[in-house]
Order: sequence, then structure tokens, then C-alpha cells
Amino acid sequence: MILKASKEILTDNVLSNHCLGRQFGKISTSTNERRGKVIRNLLISLFPEQSSILNQEKSCFLCDNIFDKTDEIVKNISPNFEFNTFHVGTKIPDEIIKKEDILKEKYDLQYQEGIKQELNRELGKKIGLKLKKEFKREKEDVTIIIHPYKSKIEYFINPLFIYGRYNKLVRGIPQTKWLCRKCKGKGCSKCNHTGKMYDESVQELITELFLNETRGTDSAFHGAGREDIDVLMLGNGRPFVLEIKSPQIRHIDLKKLEHEINNKNKGKIIISGLCYAEKDMVEKIKNTLMRKTYFAEIDISLNEDEKEKIEEFFSNRDIYQETPNRVMHRRVDKTRIRKVYKVLTSKENCSSLEIYCDGGLYIKELISGDEARTNPSIAELLGKNVKCVLLNVISIEEKV
Ligand SMILES: [Zn+2]
Ligand SMILES: [Zn+2]
Repeated sequence: MILKASKEILTDNVLSNHCLGRQFGKISTSTNERRGKVIRNLLISLFPEQSSILNQEKSCFLCDNIFDKTDEIVKNISPNFEFNTFHVGTKIPDEIIKKEDILKEKYDLQYQEGIKQELNRELGKKIGLKLKKEFKREKEDVTIIIHPYKSKIEYFINPLFIYGRYNKLVRGIPQTKWLCRKCKGKGCSKCNHTGKMYDESVQELITELFLNETRGTDSAFHGAGREDIDVLMLGNGRPFVLEIKSPQIRHIDLKKLEHEINNKNKGKIIISGLCYAEKDMVEKIKNTLMRKTYFAEIDISLNEDEKEKIEEFFSNRDIYQETPNRVMHRRVDKTRIRKVYKVLTSKENCSSLEIYCDGGLYIKELISGDEARTNPSIAELLGKNVKCVLLNVISIEEKV
């Protein structure tokens, strides 16, 4: 069957050994080139009178003998950035793919392998040997896209992901860079031509030295939730993943960098526990259920009765919260349910509370009631107006 089809193909078209062997590529594990050669030699010995036709390999109808040029192509691959693992892709002109399909149909080639697959594999092997790097099918450091018919090579450097935790020690800094609402980052008189609402952010304070060190082009900051701009992040810190885009350098001394960032931002932020992470860590920290402990100060003084009432009532209590009025302009309106596990009042200070609850609960609204958009609330329970005047996150627990 193979011989019959091969003889017909070779009588009608010139094919290289690679391309001949590839038409039956999925039958055995031998290389396409070797298989093509075996088939060709067999045919020549069976039909010596047609050997001049069967023996033609040059000007291959399918690949134009591109497989003879792979060494030359690989010679031009000399990335000037740091990486360990790579993946290869090739861009093949459409007319070659079309010819391949026509061949498949005409000679009913059920076991045909595509030229793209073979080129990827051959080039991948050679690049690995030349650069002494590891070929990887996913989560590779760099994707090398080769246009073999155009002598063009493109490098797509994949982002670097770093996990850590941060503390925020001052109020007035947002977690991420916040573009000016008026000019959307272009710069205007309202934002003093910075394009930003605030001079600094936790993201920028952390990222600056990272970008210097890795020579990345840009960054994204993924926090496990966020605190309001006027809320401190104390205790064990909030998990985050920093994504550095197109890093030229992937190996950095994280301990040293952590130290430098902390020194530079003394009194503002502290980062800790830096380690390399994979991309899926971003989803993971966003989806992990967390419990948080807050320290809050309110604008009234609680008497002993009120303290007792609060502690008793807010014990494993479901809280129904519509999206708070103050964030309605940037979030959809929906009702969410979060639990308050425990509220502790203080003996010495009649205006402070410690609240242990699910992540995602709006604490300011739990206290004020937000015009009955949060139910139940401390204001509702006490039957008077109460406002939160100071708020700190004092602990974040992952995994419940
Ligand atoms: Zn060929
Ligand atoms: Zn502006």
C-alpha cells in the first residue's frame, strides 16, 4: 500500500526524502527522512527503468528542500537575553499547507504528518543543541517563532512571575497604579501631568527595582484582594504575584532585592517571602478563600451593654451586602454574603473593635450599614449612627 501510493506520488511530483517519509509519518517512529529514503530505494530496486524519475529529490514540490537549510536557519538564532527553556513554532506559507492537503486527499494519505510539525521538531532539536537549552512544550521562558521561508526570527519572552507578601505602613497609597480619571494617563492639569491619581502605589514601589534588575518592559500586579487607600496592611502581609513582562534577565537574587526594596521604602512598605512562581499562581491567589482580621476605630464610645451586644450578635453571622455606595461607580451592583466570625471589643478603648471575617466583606459598611445596603450592621444593631474612622488589616489567613 505504501509502495503503491509512493510510486504514484513520485511519478507525479518531486519530493525530498523528508517530505516523502512524512506522508506516512504517523505509521512508525523512524524519522521521516530515513523512512523516505528506504521507500525510495525500494522503489528504485523494484522499478530500475524509472530510477531517474524516482530518484529526484531536488526542487521538492512541497518544501523546496527547506530541510537542507535548517543548519543555516539555526545559525542565525542568537538571542541576547537570558532564558533556560524554549519552545519553537514555525510559520509556513499557506500554499505549502494547501499542497499538502491536496496530496493527502489525492492519494488518500491517512498517516500524513504536517510539515509544520516536522520543522518544529527538527529545528527544536538543533536549537537545543546549539544553545544548550531545554525544549519545553509549555511554560517555556521564550517562544521562538521562525519564518523559514523569509529568514525571519521572532522571540516572545514570556513573563516572569514572583510571589510575595506586602505590608503597607502608611495611609494614602493605593495598591496599584491608578490612572488619572480625567486624562486616563495622558497627563493633564488635574493630575499635574503625571497621568496618575496618586504619586505612588504599592505596585510601583515594589516594581521599580524589579524592572531595573530584570530589564523587563512592564509589569502587572496581582494582589490577593486589596485594601482601601486609607487602610493599613499590617501583620503577616497580603499575598501578591508580580508579573514582569519581557524580562531580559530571569535569574535575580530575590533575597537581595527584597532587602533593597525594603530599605528604599522604609516606613512605607515591607515585602517578604519572595519566591519564583508559575503563571497559575495568579488565579490561585485570586480564588483562594481567605479570612481576615481587622482593627477598626469608630466615632462613638461604646458602653458595656453595647460591647456585649456586639460580641454576642456578631458571632458566625451572615452579612448581606449590596455593593457599597462609595464604590458603585466602578463595580456592578450585586448582593454578596460574607460571614463575620467574631467581633472583639476592647476593655480599655471604647471605640475600637477587632473583626474576624471572610475576605471580601466591606468593613466600613458593616459598621455604618451604608443606608441599609449592608444587613445586619453595627449601626442597625445599636440603633444609632456609627462610622469607621480608622481601619487596619492585621492578619490575612489563606485556606479556611
Ligand atoms: Zn520536501
Ligand atoms: Zn490627568
